[in-house]
Amino acid sequence: MTKPIPAQRLDLLAVEGAFAVAAAARAVEESGREVVHLEFGQPDFPSPPHATAAAIRALEADDAKYTAPAGIPELREAVVAYARMRGIPAERGNVVVTSSAKPMLQYAMLATVNPGDEVLIPTTGFPIYPSIVRFAGGTVHTYSVALTDSGWQLDWDTLDAALSPRTRAILLNSPHNPTGWTATRADLERIARIAEERNLWIISDEIYSGLAFDYPEGISPSAAAIPGMLDRTIIVDGFSKRWSMTGWRLGFGIVPKELFKGMVDLVINNTSCAPPFIQRGGLAAISGPQDAVHALRESLRKRRDRFVAGLNTIPGRRCAPPAGAFYAFVDMSALIATTKLGTDAFASRLLREFGVAGCAGTDFGPTGEGFVRFSFATAAEKLDRAIELLAEASHAFGA
Ligand code: PMP
Repeated sequence: MTKPIPAQRLDLLAVEGAFAVAAAARAVEESGREVVHLEFGQPDFPSPPHATAAAIRALEADDAKYTAPAGIPELREAVVAYARMRGIPAERGNVVVTSSAKPMLQYAMLATVNPGDEVLIPTTGFPIYPSIVRFAGGTVHTYSVALTDSGWQLDWDTLDAALSPRTRAILLNSPHNPTGWTATRADLERIARIAEERNLWIISDEIYSGLAFDYPEGISPSAAAIPGMLDRTIIVDGFSKRWSMTGWRLGFGIVPKELFKGMVDLVINNTSCAPPFIQRGGLAAISGPQDAVHALRESLRKRRDRFVAGLNTIPGRRCAPPAGAFYAFVDMSALIATTKLGTDAFASRLLREFGVAGCAGTDFGPTGEGFVRFSFATAAEKLDRAIELLAEASHAFGA
């Protein structure tokens, strides 16, 4: 009997390597070996207690029916206040609440890209970006975030070279996963000039804003704060990272008014709304005390300094301190060369033989060859243990 064939569309999907590494790490643990988990982009801090309390209260009051697709008005207002604190002139009509940042990324592509349009995305970069561009019928073009003597920087030559008359949108991610590069206001002004000259959309993934180490309150600048740019910028943001609420699956978009109805229609076609008690928890997180966010950021700063210093004592690797987010994207090309393995096989060997779980740089695009990403959003003792194990690996590989 012949069987039905899955749609070709599925072949367009890339996945996040971190999920596969986590599954492989569990298998290694089951075989009795200790593993230091540095694969996931997930802070080890608990959710803010006032968020948890608000969600429980809402559930107990049976606040468990559909809400307006754009989100409850109180949460949308709170996002407006948050945006204004960042200098973004948002109003309620710019804000859409979504079930985490990821669907908002999809909606941003679906709402702006027509088949054949070109979208510029960073390489290295979040692995989901190429999939969602292709899913929307667009063509992927890349610009580089490259390691220079002064740390990670956007390589403007690659961005200029990637632009064409068919370019429809530039996707920015600042602070950037996996490198921690954080756009300055001057970088964003340059992007804004390009977008205005060429009439482009900017899709700005700001999930790590609030975790930028060189800015007051940790808040990195946004392209949408540049006068006129909110009309062409879609901010993708959410509660996963700085509020340490990854499993709540709550996010939001700050979108041009012209796209608002389309975005809401996309929400109606997908999830109808984010769960109401989850939105109540998010409301408490964004509008309540921010001590937990400050504590997380300060702890991440210390962990970054400690981890990067430790890494740089080990032969065969080089790590520039990230300006934001919580990943060390480490150049291990010298060490990898001694093993004659590909980057992916090398990262698997680090896990299987030394018990350190990180993501191969190639999960973030071909320019990640020779790099491994380690999340430092975990306890200092675990980071110290990872340094010990990596030093052992380096010795064993003969670096
Ligand atoms: N963008 C980037 C760059 C990310 O690293 C992540 C999470 N790893 C997301 C978006 C998705 O965030 P959320 O958990 O809100 O879906």
